[in-house]
Amino acid sequence: SPPAERYEYQAEVSRLMDLIVNSLYSNKEVFLRELISNASDALDKLRFLSVTEPGLLKEAVDFDIRIQADKDNGIISITDTGIGMTRQELVDCLGTIAQSGTAKFLKALKDNKDAGGDNNLIGQFGVGFYSAFLVSDRVVVSTKSPKSDKQYVWEGEANASSYTITEETDPEKLIPRGTRLTLYLKRDDKGFAHPERIQKLVKNYSQFVSFPIYTWQEKGYTKEVEVDEGTDEAKKDDQDENTKKKKKTKTVVERYWDWELTNETQPIWLRNPKEVTKDEYNEFYKKTFDEYLEPLASSHFTTEGEVEFRSILFVPAFAPSGKDDIINPKTKNIRLFVKRVFISDDFDGELFPRYLSFVKGVVDSNDLPLNVSREILQESRIVRIMRKRLVRKAFDMILGISMSENREDYEKFWENFGKHLKLGCIEDRENHKRLAPLLRFFSSQSEEELIGLDEYVENMKPDQKDIYYIASDSVTSAKNTPFLEKLVEKDLEVLFLVDPIDEVAIQNLKSYKEKNFVDISKEDLDLGDKNEEKEKEMKQEFGQICDWIKKRLGDKVASVQISNRLSSSPCVLVSGKFGWSANMERLMKAQSM
Ligand code: ADP
Ligand code: MG
Repeated sequence: SPPAERYEYQAEVSRLMDLIVNSLYSNKEVFLRELISNASDALDKLRFLSVTEPGLLKEAVDFDIRIQADKDNGIISITDTGIGMTRQELVDCLGTIAQSGTAKFLKALKDNKDAGGDNNLIGQFGVGFYSAFLVSDRVVVSTKSPKSDKQYVWEGEANASSYTITEETDPEKLIPRGTRLTLYLKRDDKGFAHPERIQKLVKNYSQFVSFPIYTWQEKGYTKEVEVDEGTDEAKKDDQDENTKKKKKTKTVVERYWDWELTNETQPIWLRNPKEVTKDEYNEFYKKTFDEYLEPLASSHFTTEGEVEFRSILFVPAFAPSGKDDIINPKTKNIRLFVKRVFISDDFDGELFPRYLSFVKGVVDSNDLPLNVSREILQESRIVRIMRKRLVRKAFDMILGISMSENREDYEKFWENFGKHLKLGCIEDRENHKRLAPLLRFFSSQSEEELIGLDEYVENMKPDQKDIYYIASDSVTSAKNTPFLEKLVEKDLEVLFLVDPIDEVAIQNLKSYKEKNFVDISKEDLDLGDKNEEKEKEMKQEFGQICDWIKKRLGDKVASVQISNRLSSSPCVLVSGKFGWSANMERLMKAQSM
């Protein structure tokens, strides 16, 4: 057979392996989760590709994962019938770090260190293939891609800087397609090779893998066997009428080994929502999206009629760090399935508008073609209807959080995703009615606790027609503005818009429950207390002073006028009716700098 070729790992790989081994030392068992998830990914890939290339399935074998443990020798083998790897893929995938899981792990490790480090956290992240070396001295990967007619063997050892690849020539080891990993466990880790232990880990870690996982188990069945009746003497003793006719038997247990289905393969979203517990949803969420915190809310539903699909949506507890996530709709947050086949998680606004791209979930449709492409997605009427329903459900879910008895939940939501909803006010006119009740602001009567527009409206004076607001850069400067004096005096509440995006969002909404939003810093503010007689008198008395001031200030102001809107301050600078508010002007200035 051809000689083994030796390859060096990319430098990062060796470093990564050290890191994994050191930081996951107390959580070694995650290796099984990682390797099963790779097997499941490989099956997903094959199933997906075979839709357009049925030739890939020329080997008639089932899609499954089989795990065999040899406790006497401390060996575990994990075999899948998935996409396998070509020789080049072995080099690219197992010799370099270009993969999502491992990159995420490195980041998590760093974030965790920066945050002062609870090591247990790390165990929750995908660390990938190299976690095999947590428990193994030696790992052998024998793999056959349906694209290649040869089977290759990758072999690596713990703490080594290189690995080898050879062609598989032993006929006993040939597989029709897919990958077999063989782990030669470290002396202290041989305990993992117990069939019961494997069974427990599979049940624990892989309950949401949608392919059958079989484990090699010792089984037994009981059987009645006749016993030797012994001597004639014995027969003579046994003269009792009742037992005379019965044959003497005893129960024995026959032992044998066989594959046992160890996971439940029904995807959680196909189950009846009434029968799924909150814990199950949370677990599913954490496993599917590599999250370590429970979601703030979830929603599991089926839609029927025009378009049929099933979905489970989640609101995460935290926005991912990184400033640009609000602009970037490519979050891989929605996993699309067609008839249970995973199709894609690579969307760009097709299923959710970008301001809702923080929503995570799975969507399974029976109406889309399996070979659905991005172009089809973008043009499909079905997808448009799905999108509408999904958005509506997402809003219901968020509204649900806002009505929760636990006020903290929505505060947490708002802190993380408030900006997204404000962006929604600007970008999604169609959903203004759903967005508006979810907004939160401080106000002149609630400087510490955020209030919603409904609370504002309830608190309006009987004859108050408008919703008042002032945009400013902080609550402190908002409450010290002279514009507020008159309104405070009249006990009218004023919303404080202190986030730069607030004012634009509000201006887009225009009104809420038929009440207009009114900027109290604008020149034509009408508080319904005009006294024309008195105004005339004042104008006569102070008209000349106004002219004089205007002359002195020249172009710096548009006009100088008598007003009834102040109570203790002598004068105030207001913005023109059609001009920018002072806050907007500040924003524009900041942007043009
Ligand atoms: P990730 O799964 O996040 O991509 P891993 O380190 O777990 O990272 O795996 C690296 C790559 O190795 C995978 O992306 C895949 O291409 C390949 N791979 C690993 N296990 C298998 C397998 N059982 N079958 C086919 N390819 C695999
Ligand atoms: Mg992986």
